[in-house]
Amino acid sequence: MPKAVVVGAGLGGLAASLALCEKPDWEVTVVEAASRTGGKVGWERHEGVIFDTGPSLLTLPGVVEKVCRQVECPMEDRLTLVRPQPAFRYYFSDGTTFEVAHSVEKTAQHISEALGARAGQEYAAFLDYAKGIWEVAAPAFVWGSAPTLGSALRLGLTKLREFRRVDPMRTMAEAIEERISDWRLRDFFWRYATYNGSDPRSAPATLNCICWVEQGLGFWGVEGGMNQLVDALEKLARQRGVTFLLEHPVTAIRRREGVFEIAGEDYELDGDAVVVNADVRHLVEELAGHGVDPNLSLNGPSSMSAWTAVIRARRRPPGERCAHAVIFPDGDYGREFSDIFDRKTPPADPAIYLCAREKAHQARGWKREEPLFVMVNMPPGMESEADEHRCERLKHHVLQRLRQLHHIDGDDEVIWERTPRDLAHRFPGSRGSLYGAASNGRLAAFRRPANRVDAVPGLVLAGGSAHPGGGVPLSLQSGLQAARELLSHGEKWGLFE
Ligand SMILES: Cc1cc2nc3c(=O)[nH]c(=O)nc-3n(C[C@H](O)[C@H](O)[C@H](O)COP(=O)(O)OP(=O)(O)OC[C@H]3O[C@@H](n4cnc5c(N)ncnc54)[C@H](O)[C@@H]3O)c2cc1C
Repeated sequence: MPKAVVVGAGLGGLAASLALCEKPDWEVTVVEAASRTGGKVGWERHEGVIFDTGPSLLTLPGVVEKVCRQVECPMEDRLTLVRPQPAFRYYFSDGTTFEVAHSVEKTAQHISEALGARAGQEYAAFLDYAKGIWEVAAPAFVWGSAPTLGSALRLGLTKLREFRRVDPMRTMAEAIEERISDWRLRDFFWRYATYNGSDPRSAPATLNCICWVEQGLGFWGVEGGMNQLVDALEKLARQRGVTFLLEHPVTAIRRREGVFEIAGEDYELDGDAVVVNADVRHLVEELAGHGVDPNLSLNGPSSMSAWTAVIRARRRPPGERCAHAVIFPDGDYGREFSDIFDRKTPPADPAIYLCAREKAHQARGWKREEPLFVMVNMPPGMESEADEHRCERLKHHVLQRLRQLHHIDGDDEVIWERTPRDLAHRFPGSRGSLYGAASNGRLAAFRRPANRVDAVPGLVLAGGSAHPGGGVPLSLQSGLQAARELLSHGEKWGLFE
């Protein structure tokens, strides 16, 4: 019986283990360091209430459906997706606000009312441009095997018009500058670079497609919280015979005579194939042992980290607090990116993201209060004691601002928080970053490690630090793709003998 060992039970690891169930004669074991599955899609409990500590919204639910289909289970049998109303409100320093609804037309109308008719038209035209990028970029950069410079060049040579639609030669910021005249709408579109932790001043304009993915293709909550997604995938995998070994940190992966040894402090497993869902840097710098030289270079910048917290906030009447909100800084929003990526320091005046978990996910709060998730972008690699003090100062700034703007009350308290250093410790090799490598620079998509590691037959990579990158749907897609590579190359690697 061929044995596959999956290192890590994050979304990539869960998706890969489900996809490997396609081979009923394979024995699949998932080895996870933590006491729960889900990785960054985490949750905590406080006085009887469970709240998510990771992602807030789900895009591209078709990928979740694809994962469930691997084991012939319709997604709706396991998960209920919800569309909160009102959905997403943006607050600007001049007092303007507008709401992003669940349709481009409705949002354009809200933007016209708040910023004027021209802004509404420019918004709709930008979404159309972003849609055009996604239609060409998704098949080339997301859904299949990792792109290479050669495959991009072939696309450029054979389908020049389509290649141009991908807009790879400019930065996100340059394309936004050309198409949008209102500064508030520019800030709004800049922020989409943070959806994969990148810098709009250097990420290719191709990433402008992210706003289409969210607003054109839609965003959802998961009834009960994002943790329900993990719960559903884990249960499905267990039902299909996947074994989970929790609290089993892997310390080394070795290979002798074609067999992998996956070792922890006090155990050792053998496997014919290994799926690594841990961060690729952790594999390269710490786990790869005898006979495992993945020959991967990791010289790109890491994506953003974050300071995150949950506030037990007095419940507001329906409509007063949106499911999602962004409060832009008083000063220049561009400063946030130069602080994070150039000065490598916490942003002096950051944009603040809020998610009212009850409203976003129809999740239950306390009797009078609801869990309010707060997130501020931070540089990766902030792991020193001095960095912890800087986080503490930032926290005071953020709470003060939320009180001043009446998003929270004076006695609402922080019941949980996590700094970039906590993230770095919890996810080894990640440097605290949320989405693997940043997409800063035109070649970023080609630098990201592919799912198949040609230098080590039988080893594949699944998760946000490998192709096609981070975020909920892409990490799941990464797991599917890793399993596909394993299954399609297995014969060549001698796994099916
Ligand atoms: C605060 C926050 C907010 C986010 N918001 C969003 C959002 O709104 N939308 C969105 O799409 N994405 C969001 N993301 C990103 C998204 O959660 C991640 O990109 C995705 O969950 C990463 O999945 P992964 O497959 O890379 O695995 P990870 O979540 O990185 O999990 C890897 C797993 O491997 C385990 N592991 C590591 N090393 C070892 C070892 N040596 N031995 C055994 N096990 C090991 C870890 O314990 C972990 O469980 C957010 C992330 C965070 C943290």
